[in-house]
Amino acid sequence: MSQAPSVFEQFESNVRSYSRSFPAIFQRARGSVIYDTSGKEYLDFFSGAGTLNYGHNEERMKRRLISYLESDGIIHALDASTTAKQEFLTRFRDVVLQPRGLDYKVQFCGPTGTNAVEAALKLARKVTKRTGVFAFSGGYHGMSLGSMSVTSGRSVRASAGVPTAHTTFIPYPVGPRGNFDSLSYLRNLLEDSHSGVDVPAAMILETVQMDGGIYIASAEWLKELRTLCDQHGILLICDDIQAGCGRTGRFFSFERAGIQPDLVTLSKSISGYGLPMALLLMRRDLDQWKPGEHTGTFRGLQLSFIAATEALGYWQEPAFEKSIKNKEQLLRGVFGDALPGLEGELDLRGIGMAFGIDMIKAGGYERARRIQQRAFQHGLIMEQCGREDTVLKVMPPLTTTEEQLMKGCEILIDSIRHA
Ligand code: PMP
Repeated sequence: MSQAPSVFEQFESNVRSYSRSFPAIFQRARGSVIYDTSGKEYLDFFSGAGTLNYGHNEERMKRRLISYLESDGIIHALDASTTAKQEFLTRFRDVVLQPRGLDYKVQFCGPTGTNAVEAALKLARKVTKRTGVFAFSGGYHGMSLGSMSVTSGRSVRASAGVPTAHTTFIPYPVGPRGNFDSLSYLRNLLEDSHSGVDVPAAMILETVQMDGGIYIASAEWLKELRTLCDQHGILLICDDIQAGCGRTGRFFSFERAGIQPDLVTLSKSISGYGLPMALLLMRRDLDQWKPGEHTGTFRGLQLSFIAATEALGYWQEPAFEKSIKNKEQLLRGVFGDALPGLEGELDLRGIGMAFGIDMIKAGGYERARRIQQRAFQHGLIMEQCGREDTVLKVMPPLTTTEEQLMKGCEILIDSIRHA
C-alpha cells in the first residue's frame, strides 16, 4: 500500500524553509489561535516571527481594511502622498512620537525589515562620510549583503560570501559566554589612537537580542553606549524591528533606558496585521537624501498604512501597556515556579512578552528541538532561537488572554518534562 505524501512532499517545489518545524497545512487564524486543514487548533507563541503583536485577523483592523477595499482605496502609490499615509503619519506622531518627546522624520522603506536596515546603514555612511560600522555578537539584522554584513552568525554569512570588511563585531554585554565589559572594550578601540580601528559611521544594535536568544542589555549599559556614541560622533542605530511595537513592554525597546537613538528601524508588527511595512526613523537633521539616492517600488502599501493606523489605537489606551506588564509578571511567575523542578539547568530570560528558556546546559539543541516538536503536537506553536538554537522562544501576541497564556505555558512545561 503506498503511503500518502507527507506535508512537505506535497510542497516539494517550495524551497526548503523553516516551515519544516511545523508539519501541518495551516488554513486560518484568529487572535492567538491558528487552525490547520484538519481543524486542529494551535496556540501561537511565535506571532509570525514578531509580526503579529495584536494577533491574527484583529477585528478592528480587518473591518477597516475591508471598508477601505470596498471604497476603492488606492493600494499602490509608490511614494506619493495619500490619505492613508497621511492618517498613519499623523497618528504615529500624535500617539507614538510626541508623547515620548521624540521628533523623528519617517522614511518608508521597502516592504521588509532588511530594507530599513539597509537604509539606516547607507544613510549613516552618507551623513558621516565614514564607512565602518560597529555591530554586536549575537545580533541579527537581515539577509541582504549589507544587513548581513552586520549580522554576527559566521556560518550563514560565510556560505554566501558576505563581505564584512567594514564591520567590527563587539561582544554584547550578555551572552552564552557570560558577561563582557564591552564598554571598556569599546572605549579602548575608540580612544586609543593605535587601536587599529577607525571611528565608525554607526553602531547598530538590538537592545534585546531577539533571534540571538533573548539577551537583554541593561538600561545603564545602553545609556553609557549612547554617551560613547555622542563623544565620538557615531550614529546610534537601534534595530527595533523585532523588539519594538510593544514586545518588550513599551512601544520602543529603548524607552526603558531613557535614550534616543539617532536612527531607529521598525518593521514586523508596525503594520499590525502581518502586512509588509518597514520604517526608518531619523533625527531631523539626518534627512540628507537627495532625490533618487534611496528608492524602491514597494515603499507604500496603503493597506499597511490602514492597518497600522488602526493598530496604533492600542497605544492610545494606557491600559494596553499595563496589560503587557501584567502578562510579563504572569509568565515570569509561571516559569519561575515550574522550571526549577524540571530536569537540567534551565536558564530563563525575559522582558515584556519576549521570554527565552535556554536549554544550553540542559540537553542543548537536540532537547530544545524535541520540546518544540512535542509542544507542536500538543497544540503550541513556538520557535527556537539563540546561537545554536538552544533557546525556546516564547513570543505570543500581546493580546493573548491570560487563560491562553496559562494553557500555552502548561503545554510548554509539560513538553519540557517529557522531552
Ligand atoms: N532586524 C531584526 C532585529 C530582526 O529580527 C529581523 C527579522 N528577524 C530583521 C532585522 C530582518 O527583517 P526581515 O526579515 O523582515 O527582512
